[in-house]
Amino acid sequence: MTLRTIESLGPLAGKRVVVRCDLNVPLQDGVITDDGRVRASAPTLEALTGQGARVIVISHLGRPDGAPDPKYSLAPVAARLDELIERPVAFATDTVGTDAAAKVEALADGEVLVLENLRFNPGETSKNEAERTAFAGELAAFADAVVSDGFGVVHRKQASVYELEQLRPSAAGLLIAAEVDVLDRLTESPERPYTVVLGGSKVSDKLGVIEHLLPRVDALLIGGGMLFTFLAAQGHRVGSSLLEADQIDTVNGYLADARQRGVDILLPTDVVVAASFSADADHVVTAADAIEETPFAASGLGLDIGPDTAAAFAERIRNSRTVFWNGPMGVFELAPFAAGTRAVAEALTEVDGLSVVGGGDSAAAVRQLGFGDDRFDHISTGGGASLEFLEGKKLPGLEVLGWQ
Ligand code: ADP
Ligand code: MG
Repeated sequence: MTLRTIESLGPLAGKRVVVRCDLNVPLQDGVITDDGRVRASAPTLEALTGQGARVIVISHLGRPDGAPDPKYSLAPVAARLDELIERPVAFATDTVGTDAAAKVEALADGEVLVLENLRFNPGETSKNEAERTAFAGELAAFADAVVSDGFGVVHRKQASVYELEQLRPSAAGLLIAAEVDVLDRLTESPERPYTVVLGGSKVSDKLGVIEHLLPRVDALLIGGGMLFTFLAAQGHRVGSSLLEADQIDTVNGYLADARQRGVDILLPTDVVVAASFSADADHVVTAADAIEETPFAASGLGLDIGPDTAAAFAERIRNSRTVFWNGPMGVFELAPFAAGTRAVAEALTEVDGLSVVGGGDSAAAVRQLGFGDDRFDHISTGGGASLEFLEGKKLPGLEVLGWQ
């Protein structure tokens, strides 16, 4: 079964269409530092307003605790959307309260209304199905139809992602359709060699995916925060770097499994170690098995892969026909620790085949380092969601749109 399309909803002129977007952008002091997810949401909104629908946009932002918190207001995002699309964009200061209801009522054909952060309401992420369904019902009251387009959250069973879609005629938006199209190509018949590059800081989340990827790939390249758990598994000391000590046995299991399957797991041979977590910290390049032998001894922090590793990773990537990359190789936000991420990004742009970048921070990294979006075949707006898709897991937010 394939995803239901917007066309399957029939003519939408004059209809109220609730669109679940993923507008969870990085903010610093109320300013959007990467608007990639807002731009990625625009085509679906334009398509709907273009046919005269009354569009009600819903999204989460950050992790507020089920109650209003001005720090996580979608107001700046609504303002950015207003700049990006032709149509007027209004904003409601609550999600399903009196302001939302009044503004939904006032919405004219072809106009857009952004409701306040879904996660200001405890029902959105509740573990209790009845609570989620009740909140979804309040959202559904605004809708003649629902379009789901927040790819970054399709792996979550949340009210706006899973329950709402079952209460009204629903379909996948253009972004979800495009994401699934590319990721399905990666899953079904990737051209080989197929290489997956993993990094970032959500170490325990991402370690789990390795088990599922091993049967599918030819090579796994490990950078970012998780590399230190691999080095520790090989018996090396890692100073004060990110380490999940309780995962060491698991990681040893992956290494053994990879050997048996003939999958190459490439680990760093050198790393950049710093005295502290800051852009002006003293730092040195050291062999991966000598992290505590720098002047910083056991307090040294591994913040990037080293130049030899970057070169080896880049060569492996360039010689692959299919590459999926999730997670920065180092703390790219600080200039001295961005080189590994830059080298991997550069190599991806040279792949003769399919190159896909997934993950909020990875996407932000390539943009911050000056790579245009068009240098890659696809930049996925969802990190966790894209990984779970590649693992072959069932994603509730896609199943509910007809995907199997
Ligand atoms: P994504 O959003 O692409 O899925 P993550 O959220 O898992 O990626 O991780 C991104 C973060 O990982 C970045 O903020 C980066 O600074 C951090 N990171 C990368 N390497 C390291 C490291 N060696 N130590 C600490 N943090 C790291
Ligand atoms: Mg992230």
